[in-house]
Amino acid sequence: MTTHNKCKTCSKEIIPNTERQSLMFTPHYCSKYCKLFSEQKLSLTPKGGWPTISCKCDNCEKEFQLKNKRNTKDQVFCGKECLHQVMKCKKHSMKDYTLLRILRAKRKPMSAYDLTYLMDNQHQYRVKPNGISCKLRRWVAKGVVITNRTPKTRNENTITTYQLSPEYENEPLGALVIKTLTPKTN
Ligand SMILES: [Zn+2]
Ligand SMILES: [Zn+2]
Repeated sequence: MTTHNKCKTCSKEIIPNTERQSLMFTPHYCSKYCKLFSEQKLSLTPKGGWPTISCKCDNCEKEFQLKNKRNTKDQVFCGKECLHQVMKCKKHSMKDYTLLRILRAKRKPMSAYDLTYLMDNQHQYRVKPNGISCKLRRWVAKGVVITNRTPKTRNENTITTYQLSPEYENEPLGALVIKTLTPKTN
């Protein structure tokens, strides 16, 4: 018998491979909503409903209300406009954004293989470890991502790990992606 983890807030079963958001950003919780609910030690409304939670947009930093509904419980931007700005600033910009978001959420060194596993789950993003390393090079060069190599032993390949620089932990990553990836016009 296999037992799945249950969300620590709402007790919903977290089934690996289907709960992509959970796997990438909110281990132990089924959604961003449930993670914040627990972190902020909130309680149900007097009528027994889920309260809305104030969140900061990951692009414009405006506050918005996060609701525990199927389509909104993982919302990171205040609205479609901010989402579209990030999505459209460059082709595949959401891959960069998602990578940075994973690193911010995990707060630990991740190898390109770890990141590929999370990103390629259900083929949401078609990525390979080489492609991930390649993409991250830009962010390493800018100091947004820090790399580490485990010492090379004779029989092992070097493993490079990636971690978000603490300086950027509280930065709106959407805005950072737009600023960095938008092609410069003269
Ligand atoms: Zn939950
Ligand atoms: Zn916004």
